[in-house]
Amino acid sequence: MTDHHAAYTADEALQRLKDGNARFVAGEARFPTVQKEVLAELAKGQQPYATILGCSDSRVPPELVFDAGFGELFVVRVAGNVLGPSILGTLQYAGSHLHTPLFVVLGHEGCGAVKAAIASKFHGAVQKSRIEVLLENILPALDTLDGEQPDEVLLHSAVEANVRHTVRELLDTPEAKANLVAGHMKLVGAVYELESGRVRFLD
Ligand SMILES: [Zn+2]
Repeated sequence: MTDHHAAYTADEALQRLKDGNARFVAGEARFPTVQKEVLAELAKGQQPYATILGCSDSRVPPELVFDAGFGELFVVRVAGNVLGPSILGTLQYAGSHLHTPLFVVLGHEGCGAVKAAIASKFHGAVQKSRIEVLLENILPALDTLDGEQPDEVLLHSAVEANVRHTVRELLDTPEAKANLVAGHMKLVGAVYELESGRVRFLD
């Protein structure tokens, strides 16, 4: 895409997220209210600087976690921050139409979906049918984990493994390959820490 001029580079977008999370943790969030003129301006169009694939968990709202305002983040939330046809379609839209320079897969500590996947894989737990379908997206991420670890350690490793798994699957799409090679976009994984409010960006 040569006709597109993103307001931010991927690195600038990443820095904005890191700065926003630091403000959030420090209790210095900038966006307590919304201004009418901002909404009027945004009604003309959106140019979010980052796309976030996060979990539906009520404790991890991306806009608050990154102290981002209206129009700044394009957000997809699904239990366990997994992929699926509709989600891939939404991400494809973000890439090809909105041209967000940065994509973040945002998992979180204590994720119930990951916990359920652990129970399914290591303890034979069975969920309702559609939840099972959801968990199938997480199970491959747990392949290299040792099920004998203490529960908390296992969940911590599994959360991170699940984020890395989703990132790898996204990297495997032809578009991601082309865009990453061309330097148009950046894709990173991150884990939100429930207790501290901090986002840990993965290498
Ligand atoms: Zn979760």
